[in-house]
Amino acid sequence: MLIVMNANATQGDIDGVVRAVESLGFRPHVMPGATRTAIGVTGNQGAVDLSHFENLPGVGEAIRVTKPYKLITLDLRPERTIVDVGGAKIGDGSLAIIAGPCAVESRKQAFAVADVVQRSGAKFFRGGAFKPRTSPYAFAGLGEEGLKILAEIRDEFDLKIVSEALDETNVDLVEKYADMVQIGARNMQNITLLRRVGRSSLPVLLKRGMAATLEEWLLAAEYVMAEGNYQVVLCERGVRTFAQHTRNTLDLAAVPAVRRISHLPVIVDAAHGTGRSYMVTPLSRAGVAVGADGLMVEVHARPDEALSDGAQSLTLDEYEQMVKEVRAIHKVIA
Ligand code: PEP
Ligand code: MN
Repeated sequence: MLIVMNANATQGDIDGVVRAVESLGFRPHVMPGATRTAIGVTGNQGAVDLSHFENLPGVGEAIRVTKPYKLITLDLRPERTIVDVGGAKIGDGSLAIIAGPCAVESRKQAFAVADVVQRSGAKFFRGGAFKPRTSPYAFAGLGEEGLKILAEIRDEFDLKIVSEALDETNVDLVEKYADMVQIGARNMQNITLLRRVGRSSLPVLLKRGMAATLEEWLLAAEYVMAEGNYQVVLCERGVRTFAQHTRNTLDLAAVPAVRRISHLPVIVDAAHGTGRSYMVTPLSRAGVAVGADGLMVEVHARPDEALSDGAQSLTLDEYEQMVKEVRAIHKVIA
């Protein structure tokens, strides 16, 4: 259920509705908007009797939600959500660039990339300390040591740190060192992990599962929000298809499709979305053109020596050039 307050409802009216929802054992999610506040109600198994709320002071209307989602929708929040990552914004109309190596391999390797990322004007640095690898024998990341390097980069370069958590214990560590927690494609439907980051104070970057429908992806975001964390950024990173010329098929139609339903920001990862470095710049340009709030991109000083995802990593020069090109496109469409 969704309770829409009148434009002139007072804080007291809102508090009254919150108490009424809680007294029934449900959870209220208060979403203030430009013209009115809406309150999403979760925790009810069946339909709730709307008459509990309709006559409370300040209530405009109580609406039964027939869609599978409650909190991610434009019905609840018609304005776009702006996600605050340690003071840097995603979804505010600027182009958010999250760049860095697939994995943090060493201090030297990560610092070399961070220097170029900072000079490009990007505000976000990515780097995996915990890597979900297909093979159990592949490099799986430096763990907490990698996060410590990322925290140094945050201090040295004033970049906001985005890093992946594979499990709940990882989340505790990422919270200690980073500014945003990434949930990877392989974990998009790891329900306990989604619930855990839903209770985190960090914003969440939620990648689309490689075989996830739009609805499944949005419901994963709904899991995070239902726990009270409304700071979620969606990341399209390609899905598995029969195509053999790419690692994944980057589904750029997901960007307008998300926009039509949700207030959450959505970004495009053309690195995992193609798996081929020569495609990353053209598809990043396309991602901006299609209206993404930002880009994620993998960068390495020596891609051929990278311990993971070298084939899709841009060199430092290629990255600098890509940023110039995507900024030019963003300027035109913004
Ligand atoms: C990554 O960002 O390095 C990563 C593992 O991405 P995905 O979860 O999209 O495969
Ligand atoms: Mn990667």
